[in-house]
Amino acid sequence: MSDIFDKIIEGEIPSYKVYEDENVLAFLDISQVTPGHTLLVPKKHVTNIFDYDDETAEKVLLVLPKLARAIRSTNPKITGMNISSNNGVSAGQTVMHSHWHLIPRYDDDNLNETLVLTIDHSDDYNQARYEEIAAEIKKALN
Ligand code: AMP
Repeated sequence: MSDIFDKIIEGEIPSYKVYEDENVLAFLDISQVTPGHTLLVPKKHVTNIFDYDDETAEKVLLVLPKLARAIRSTNPKITGMNISSNNGVSAGQTVMHSHWHLIPRYDDDNLNETLVLTIDHSDDYNQARYEEIAAEIKKALN
């Protein structure tokens, strides 16, 4: 069964892509907990961490540090990053296609660590702003 991230991978629904190769796709999380909040997903359908084969795990984890550095390099105010993945409904997973949140942290963001993934700032964003953030990260990956 096709989920919303399968549809993004197939290009059936739009996303603000920042990185793509044969095995993975990275795009902006629509909620933008902080500016630059990005999701990294395996293209192969993997429901959650319990489902990974070694090869897919390797492909995803190889991209994570590169993507984290690229996001950080887009803004000198980014001083840290939360990288997390919710696995299973009881852990707060809402999209049943494995994904890794990369959430840039700013010294003055005043976020409570435990509440980070419940925040949704999408009302503050428009297409132009998403495109601007995605373009900065894409540029940093080249
Ligand atoms: P989780 O709760 O860990 O399963 O995270 C799912 C994430 O997917 C949430 O942070 C949503 O904001 C994000 N999300 C859902 N639909 C889309 C979409 N169409 N484009 C980008 N991000 C999305």
